Amino acid sequence: MATIGWIGLGNMGRPMTKNLIAAGHTVRGYDLDERAVAAAAENGVEAVGSIAQAVDGAEVVFTMLPKGEHARSVHLGDGGVLEFAAPGTLLIDSSTIDVDSANALHDAAEKAGFAFVDAPVSGGISGAAAGTLTFMLGGADADVERARTFVEPMAGNVFHAGGNGAGQAAKIVNNMMLAISLQGAAEGAVLARKLGLDAQTFWDIAHVSSGDSWPLRTWYPVPGVVETSAANKGFDATFATALAHKDVGLAMAGAESVGVTLPAAQVAFDNLQKLMDDGYADKDCSLVIRNIDPEAPG
Ligand code: NAD
Repeated sequence: MATIGWIGLGNMGRPMTKNLIAAGHTVRGYDLDERAVAAAAENGVEAVGSIAQAVDGAEVVFTMLPKGEHARSVHLGDGGVLEFAAPGTLLIDSSTIDVDSANALHDAAEKAGFAFVDAPVSGGISGAAAGTLTFMLGGADADVERARTFVEPMAGNVFHAGGNGAGQAAKIVNNMMLAISLQGAAEGAVLARKLGLDAQTFWDIAHVSSGDSWPLRTWYPVPGVVETSAANKGFDATFATALAHKDVGLAMAGAESVGVTLPAAQVAFDNLQKLMDDGYADKDCSLVIRNIDPEAPG
């Protein structure tokens, strides 16, 4: 069993480290937020006060941070991972970040003698807790094979998406499609209600018909229809608007960089932007239904 350094013990990092510990690994965890470190320590994470201490003697270092800028500063900044980790350490970044940052981290890490794998995940907080996340790994074959052993205790599915940055590319395309499907499910819910359909009856029909989608089945934004819907709990976040907005923004930036126009993604992005502007960054992204119908229940 290995000693693992872990940086970023937020909503995802905490349950993920718990599963690594359950698999018998030692996890040394650091976060800027002392409360996050204390909460992780309750699950058996060895709490440390700096990146240098987290990576000391670690065979592998995971990062689970909000954005590309955080991943860059944690790896490349003063006191960062590349400064203190032992050469040859395997670095696995599971944050969802832009492809450019992922590639910059691959380049810098490889130049400094480290193996680096971009390894974003899908499955949310519940998947992290259950150890059933889908991992999308990007990097060289040998590095990805090495990483596979360490991600498995946290994973339901592990894919080698391709070379450097391919994990991030797969993740942002997936989440862009999720946001478009959510927009469709929200518009469907509004139109069904306005046309006088009973919400449950319409959902029963749609989820076994061609209107089915993951957000319809999981996030249907009408109270009392789908158990896992945030609409049942005042739209408290299961997947926060800020994260969905970030991910679709990353996809839009990726599309621009390769000269592709994505009209439906633009609509989804604009609706998430409106929620951000209205102060709902921390609420569930399925609140987009209120952009269509301000009186939507929930
Ligand atoms: P979070 O905001 O809950 O946790 C991020 C943690 O990183 C915070 O505790 C923060 O204090 C810490 N951090 C930030 N900068 C740091 C630094 N310089 N040094 C040390 N710690 C630092 O976010 P999360 O929900 O855990 O998400 C993490 C990543 O996973 C994001 O990129 C997100 O898009 C992605 N993701 C989230 C979900 C989800 O459902 N929450 C699902 C899949 C992927």
